Amino acid sequence: MARVYAVISGKGGVGKTTSTINLGTSLNKLGEEVVILDGNLTTPNIGIHLGAPIVPITFNHVLKGEAKIEDAIYEHESGTKVIPASLSLNETEKIDYKKMNDVIKKLKKITNHILIDSAAGLGEEARAAIDAADEIIIVTNPEMSAVTDALKTIKLAEEKNKKILGIIITRYRGARTEMPVSSIREMLESNILGVIPEDESIKESQSLKNSVILTHPKSKSSIQYINASKRVLGENIKLENPLKTSFLSNLFKTLRLKK
Ligand code: ADP
Ligand code: MG
Repeated sequence: MARVYAVISGKGGVGKTTSTINLGTSLNKLGEEVVILDGNLTTPNIGIHLGAPIVPITFNHVLKGEAKIEDAIYEHESGTKVIPASLSLNETEKIDYKKMNDVIKKLKKITNHILIDSAAGLGEEARAAIDAADEIIIVTNPEMSAVTDALKTIKLAEEKNKKILGIIITRYRGARTEMPVSSIREMLESNILGVIPEDESIKESQSLKNSVILTHPKSKSSIQYINASKRVLGENIKLENPLKTSFLSNLFKTLRLKK
């Protein structure tokens, strides 16, 4: 039976799209069948991040009953399947968000993991993604405002009887002004799936229209996204400090053999 995850946040701009793409491509790299779906129809980003901004058939056409879901699936160079939403504002008119649930039921027959990149907040779009999913992945930054908003989203998902699979903390810098990981875990009463550091490689991968796990496989963020996806698959991997560097890499740095 396919698993359906809604990747959501309370606050906007925390790293949902980045996390959806990197978890999706990580699962694919681990040999899983994955479809990434752009469920953020008013401000879609998946196509932009992955270099397919304009495609003939989008998720919008499917929701409007104008196309079949199979015809809106595109394959990224990583082999991960992607369903982009339309960038045209006109295409968001007359969309019945309740249809998302039925469409996902069909999609479940042709893949094993469906990751929905959702809209932020508690509006109609975010609610539709939660309704269509079985499991919820919450994305937050280590800041009180983002974590407080994440808590509201968790409450909403719990009211809908959805399983909170865990939290992805992104853009972690290890600064004293940040909320500690243990406090985030306590406040949200949820499992931490991954702590992704602030990493320039993420920006570079986005300018290359790809996921960091493919463009910079050895980067700190890539290692953490791979570990997070293994935790999604149920592997028991201990949470480690994502900023930790190995003895050898420190030695090379001191000797100035490596940047
Ligand atoms: P959302 O989908 O929640 O709006 P995005 O995934 O689009 O958020 O990310 C928002 C911004 O943050 C983007 O400019 C992205 O490049 C940046 N970003 C996300 N994660 C990281 C990271 N780990 N390190 C550096 N920049 C990041
Ligand atoms: Mg986004």
